[in-house]
Formats: sequence, C-alpha cells, structure tokens
Amino acid sequence: MNKVYEIYKRLLSSLGHQAWWPAETPFEVIIGAILTQNTNWRNVEKAILNLKDSNLISPDSIANCSLATLGKHIKPAGYYNVKAKYLKEFSGRFLQDYGGSIKVLRDLDCMEIREWLLSLKGVGEETADSILLYALNKPVFVVDAYTRRIFLRHSLIDEAASYGNVQEIVEKDFPQDSKILGEFHALLVEVGKHFCKRKNPLCEKCPISDSIFYS
Ligand code: SF4
Repeated sequence: MNKVYEIYKRLLSSLGHQAWWPAETPFEVIIGAILTQNTNWRNVEKAILNLKDSNLISPDSIANCSLATLGKHIKPAGYYNVKAKYLKEFSGRFLQDYGGSIKVLRDLDCMEIREWLLSLKGVGEETADSILLYALNKPVFVVDAYTRRIFLRHSLIDEAASYGNVQEIVEKDFPQDSKILGEFHALLVEVGKHFCKRKNPLCEKCPISDSIFYS
C-alpha cells in the first residue's frame, strides 16, 4: 500500500473537495501566493479586495503603481512595504520576460518556470510551487509547515528532510495530475488547521488517526 496516497484518499472521503485555490484568474492566484507569506488567508482576501476595488489586479497596473500606493492597498496582509516590492518585482519581470502572458508562461517547461520564479525576490520554493500548481496547473506538490508536521508525526519523514525530500515522497507515487496534487495540499492544510495542531493534536477527531496510517 502506498501510505501517502492512502492518506489522500481517506482525507478526500472524510473532508471532501476543498475547492482551492479561491481566485478568479491565474494572476490573482499569483498575487495571493505572494501575499499569503507569514499571514493568514483572511488578511490576504482583504488585501486582494482592496486591489480589485482599485483595478490593481494586472501585471501592468501593479508595475505602474507606486510602492506607497500599492503598500497602502495590501496593508491588511502585513509586511506591506516588502510585499509591495515583491509584487512589483514579479509584475515587472513577468512583463519584461514573458509579456505578462500566463499562456506564454504556462507553455514553458515546468522546471524552467520554477527556476525563473525562484530567481525573483520574495519567491521561495513553497510560493514558486503554489504558483506552478494553482496558477499554471503544473503537476507539482506544495510542501508547507502543515505537511511537514503531519508527515513527521506519521514517521513518513525525519526532521532532517529537505523541501525536495518531502516533495519527492508525494510526487513519486501520485498521478502527475495537478488537480489531485492541489487537492492533497489543500486537504493537508485543513488537517493542520483543525486537527494536527502544533501543541495539542486532536488525533481522536482526525480522519487519519487509525494505526494503518502510522509507519
Ligand atoms: S492530528 Fe493526529 S492523527 Fe491527525 S495528522 Fe496529526 S498526528 Fe496524525
């Protein structure tokens, strides 16, 4: 039995589809992926709503907006001065290198896009993979702190496991399907938020508490 895939199936049947990523366009996914660093999603939603209300939801409008104005709109997401720079850096490079076209970006090889994303300020592995998966529909797995905690507690990884090690454990046995990989990440976030808490995990209520899910 592939344990990680079994966990996915159990979570899906217990918690259902998570309908991620909540956004109207791929570019909005990208903005959300950058803004969600070090804050919760509710704050990101407020910031995105402000951007939408001011028509600042395209690469052109963000690239041409002043840092101060952009920062004011995204203030609810925290670290707004830094995040405004990240959004402008992304938008400027996206326009310069790919004409601001999601289609052009999506048509490139996955590893080439990942390398490009990682060359941008404010884009680490988790953000890059979130963009690849949810904005560009590339079949990659996003590793976050919840994933690490759940996998550690089920002895699927050890403390020393790198981002790439965790990602490989999932990708090697999962179908190369962005919908499934996106669903699994969303389900793990749900488990992390509601059951696998840092201090007092609620195992008795968790859908994967059976002994079969422990190594
Ligand atoms: S809450 Fe318990 S059963 Fe659920 S993922 Fe965490 S350690 Fe596993």
